[in-house]
Amino acid sequence: MTKVLFVVSECAPLIKTGGLADVAGALPQALGALGCEVRTLLPGYRAIMGALGKTKVVETYDGLFGGPAKLRACQVGGLDLLVLDAPHLYDRDGGIYGDAAGQDWPDNPERFAALSYVAAAIADKGAGKWKPEIVHGHDWQAGLTPEYLHALDVDVPFVFTIHNIAFHGNASAERLKTLRLDPDRFTADHFEFWGQISALKAALAGASKITTVSQTYARELLTPEFGIGMDGILRARGANLVGIVNGIDEGVWNPETDPNIKTYKTASGKAANKTALRKTFGLGKADGPLCVLVSRLTEQKGVDLLLHALPELLDRGGQLALLGSGAPELEVALSQAARAHPNVAVKIGYDEALSHQMMAGGDAILVPSRFEPCGLTQLYGLRYGTLPLVALTGGLADTVINASPAALASGVATGVQFNPITAQSLGHAFGQLCDLFAQPAVWKKMQRNAMKQAVGWDASAVKYKEIYDQLRPTDR
Ligand code: ADP
Repeated sequence: MTKVLFVVSECAPLIKTGGLADVAGALPQALGALGCEVRTLLPGYRAIMGALGKTKVVETYDGLFGGPAKLRACQVGGLDLLVLDAPHLYDRDGGIYGDAAGQDWPDNPERFAALSYVAAAIADKGAGKWKPEIVHGHDWQAGLTPEYLHALDVDVPFVFTIHNIAFHGNASAERLKTLRLDPDRFTADHFEFWGQISALKAALAGASKITTVSQTYARELLTPEFGIGMDGILRARGANLVGIVNGIDEGVWNPETDPNIKTYKTASGKAANKTALRKTFGLGKADGPLCVLVSRLTEQKGVDLLLHALPELLDRGGQLALLGSGAPELEVALSQAARAHPNVAVKIGYDEALSHQMMAGGDAILVPSRFEPCGLTQLYGLRYGTLPLVALTGGLADTVINASPAALASGVATGVQFNPITAQSLGHAFGQLCDLFAQPAVWKKMQRNAMKQAVGWDASAVKYKEIYDQLRPTDR
């Protein structure tokens, strides 16, 4: 058994704002099948404390960044959790990263430094009788862990996975002391980033191995455009950076058993779901493809490109059903588009069950992201025979086979990719999608290809396990 401590700020099904939670919820189980014993260290947000069931206090910490804390062990849905019950940091109304108005919590640096500090303390002294051989942190919230491992003089390898490099977890240098960081290490070699403390930089500098969630994103990260200021350190650490594509939880996303939909084995079974979905969204019948999109609404996700290119879809008889929430200006623009056109329907909000119904009922899933480390909704789409129309970037490049003439001729296409990532090129892609949709034999063949594609965790979990195995004997 390889004992691995995951350190992560969200985990499905307990608490989720994005794909990070899906990975944290599914990867430990896939690693478990390969002989790893994964425990997941998670903040004890108010939103999850009531859902934990029976817990056992395995450690207590006095004065953890401003108050006392307990570490509670419990099992939820097949996951072994270590929940950091620190009311002064996590017991509050609002979101997990910010208040109800969307403002980041001002004490986020301390909230996630505490998580990272406790990860290092567990690597040092254990949680109850359990001690990890590897600490595996995810995104900036776990980023300061190597600094605390160093401070506590703990020789346990730290693996770090970049799910999205856009979030750096920066804090002002005045917080060095409250964050318990060594001022002598406030340098560009460690965690200093243009005069600020950067939790992400600490991880990139201090990790034994850095992974990210697709091979293409691993290459893109080395460029200024995608590295967002971290490309330099990533180039310096390039030999230790590897891309491993995300999988999806095939138990949760399975059209044959999904409790949210009218289940089906082959794509022909989608028809009843399409009818139901149109009803849910108040859409009538149409000749073109019913396109769906489920996403956070941010500039990253290219929703503004979609709004510009939409006429190319609508003029061909296509429809759009969109579920998302985020930037107010995008929510307003989308709602306006829905009011202006009967074939556009928008629901603002977060709705897990509806997201399943959209995968089952849609003809195509749209992911027009400007950058996309991996992306999960195109993987759900493949599994549900809902063909992805995606930007050619990051994991979207690695998981979809574009319907080029060659791919169509050899019968391997699974979707449509567009490049450059502009409204004009998305418009062309809509034209191509509609052409393909108008050829039922070709469309059905693509659906069969899509539904056959392996999108689970098996192959990628093996790659993580290999990394753990490499690190255990040599780095210790
Ligand atoms: P990111 O992590 O950048 O948000 P991903 O595609 O990796 O993007 O993961 C997003 C996850 O969140 C998917 O599981 C998607 O279905 C889900 N999701 C996003 N927005 C919503 C929403 N409004 N309602 C339900 N699920 C959503």
